Amino acid sequence: MALSEQELLAKVPTGLYINGKWTEGHGEAPISVEDPSTGKILLQISNANAMDGLAALTAADEAQARWAKTPPRERGEILRRTFELVRARSEEFAMLISLEMGKPIAEARGEVTYGNEFLRWFSEEAVRITGRFGSNPEGTGNMLVAQRPVGPAFAITPWNFPLAMATRKIGPAIAAGCTMVVKPAELTPLTTLLLVATLEEAGLPAGVVNVITTSTSAATSGPIIADPRLRKITFTGSTQVGRKLLEQSAQQILRTSMELGGNAPFLVFEDADLDAAVDGAMLAKLRNIGQACTAANRFIVQESVAEEFGNRLAERMSKLVLGRGVDPATTIGPVINEKARENMQRLVDTTVAEGGSVVTGGASGDGDGYFFQPTVLTNVKPGSTILQEEIFGPIAPIVRFKTEAEAVSLANDTVYGLVSYAFTQDLKRGMRLVESLDTGMTGLNTGLVSNAAAPFGGVKQSGMGREGGLEGINEYLETKYVMIPTSDY
Ligand code: NAD
Repeated sequence: MALSEQELLAKVPTGLYINGKWTEGHGEAPISVEDPSTGKILLQISNANAMDGLAALTAADEAQARWAKTPPRERGEILRRTFELVRARSEEFAMLISLEMGKPIAEARGEVTYGNEFLRWFSEEAVRITGRFGSNPEGTGNMLVAQRPVGPAFAITPWNFPLAMATRKIGPAIAAGCTMVVKPAELTPLTTLLLVATLEEAGLPAGVVNVITTSTSAATSGPIIADPRLRKITFTGSTQVGRKLLEQSAQQILRTSMELGGNAPFLVFEDADLDAAVDGAMLAKLRNIGQACTAANRFIVQESVAEEFGNRLAERMSKLVLGRGVDPATTIGPVINEKARENMQRLVDTTVAEGGSVVTGGASGDGDGYFFQPTVLTNVKPGSTILQEEIFGPIAPIVRFKTEAEAVSLANDTVYGLVSYAFTQDLKRGMRLVESLDTGMTGLNTGLVSNAAAPFGGVKQSGMGREGGLEGINEYLETKYVMIPTSDY
């Protein structure tokens, strides 16, 4: 039997999870978690202060040596059991994601499948951590190269994918033998709390994963990052905050993984399959209501097909049904809060003032939630404000180009380099674009690249390090080399 919203919310723990116990935080007032489609409070949860943050680090530090020695198979089995539990309760996780973040339930189900896959993937990777053994070139010694867990890690996650952003970090850390303090975003912390309760149920020992929720991110995180017991920070969020965390991490020379902002170009050439390009655009633009680091931010379309592409995209976008994510009729939800909605209006108004025009949308939607209409803007001039910023909402600006060289130059004209999308049926052109687009990932004739088996990450100011794939676990491992002189044998 499906749970009601109230029954589901009653299952979510509301405390901090430190050393295997749910405790109350010492922050000033509880955190109120809102439903962005109604503006009403879903649940109040505990608020950590700096002292609670350090208690979580102490728990992680004390569990580290034991956890590193726990057999890889056992670490993997805990992840696997958690994967099975999340899969069995996927409707509950999907509903919770939809309630706190606002995405349509069908998309939330997609996030559960995607996010949970990181637990399965890393349950399999735990037993494949290897090293090597060989002779030095002089023949006088043997060289042993091993991989060891980095040590206690601090994970800070954003609000937009409440499950996947947590599992992308918790999965490889557990597999590698690292303990953790996890700080989910204060806007959508409930899914992480339910996840950690599930990890506990699957047998995760006390202290391995500790969760703090806080309304004072900087004040609570600062002392953790400054503490010499911490060995690694893994962050997903804005470039602005990532830059601050890198500065702080420099003091202790921490290992860092940074998954930061994006400004994805979406290139459509006149030789593209336009049906596929429009389908790809709907996915790349509107997944997560446009609030994804991978969201197509700039549609760069060849002159001869720009009008047709714009009209077809606008037609599809204008048919979307704005509403509460958990309502099955809804095909697009609200943006996360009032500030985000005001930002959408500012971007539309600025683009129009700079010479662009609205094909569809352009204003707030009805209702108490933070709704903004899916919007297509055309004739956007290169250099416009909207092309420089991460939109993070359901607005698609279209810029025109004449030649491939101009398209590439427009695409690379950004400080970001997370993902790019290109639609062309010319294979040679496709391969040229893969070479010349300066991004960590490219979707060639597709609007979706995310996969637990793929190395996800960016270049330039979109960050460093990779999550998922064979590469993902390396972020939590360091190399230890041992020299053994052969004369000792
Ligand atoms: P944000 O940077 O505002 O916040 C991210 C997290 O950092 C939250 O948990 C927040 O509480 C915390 N935080 C904020 N200031 C802090 C400080 N001074 N010290 C410590 N922690 C602090 O980002 P957001 O609004 O939650 O998420 C949206 C951003 O995340 C976008 O820029 C998006 O592109 C990016 N993002 C990137 C990826 C990726 O994989 N590259 C994935 C998802 C989101």
